[in-house]
Amino acid sequence: MKNIKVIAFDADDTLFVNETYFAETEEKFCSLMSDYLSHQGISKELFKIEIDNLKLYGYGIKGYILSMIEAAMKISNNTISIEAIERIIQYGKELTEKPIVLLEGVEETLEALHGKYKLVVATKGDLLDQRRKLHNSGLGKYFHHIEVMSDKQEVDYSDLIKRLEIQPEEFFMIGNSLKSDVLPVLAIGGHAVHIPFHTTWEHEKINHKVEHKNFSSFEKITDVLSQFEN
Ligand SMILES: [Mg+2]
Repeated sequence: MKNIKVIAFDADDTLFVNETYFAETEEKFCSLMSDYLSHQGISKELFKIEIDNLKLYGYGIKGYILSMIEAAMKISNNTISIEAIERIIQYGKELTEKPIVLLEGVEETLEALHGKYKLVVATKGDLLDQRRKLHNSGLGKYFHHIEVMSDKQEVDYSDLIKRLEIQPEEFFMIGNSLKSDVLPVLAIGGHAVHIPFHTTWEHEKINHKVEHKNFSSFEKITDVLSQFEN
């Protein structure tokens, strides 16, 4: 690991809790719409609209609110009440006010690596919301740079690495999503570590095993430190 210059951390469900809040919101949305469709049917409809809208709105809360509204209109065959739309907007606003809960070992890991490597955050989502979360997390002091990416494909990582003025093999990514934090980084020649979170958004799931010389998976984020000893 002596070649590593930059260690990048995903934010949501790697540094702090996120998916849990989205899952809670989806529960509320399903209850609100339960007169029209089964819970499962509503989830499926919402997911489909969310994915279709990603290319227009990108990741994050604002796009999620618009997708819930669109799903509510579709599910209700355009008979949804203004009161229900108001509730949906409220659910979304509440998401922006959720407490920042750091995951176990995060601060200890950052403390240990800080000063030895350039640490950056590489995350998707709404710019304002991610900045707010980072600020409120108190972790800002550890990071040299916060990159809010519109997507996490190979090209997005290549751009980031160019901006950081390093080579792919000097880049080390840590995240909870194999699909967006691990696979594209390995594909361009970087190193990646997977730290699973107990819940994964449907869109981030992959159904094959990852094996690569530059890849490891650990249960806890502090386990990453073993890679950087000596
Ligand atoms: Mg994540």
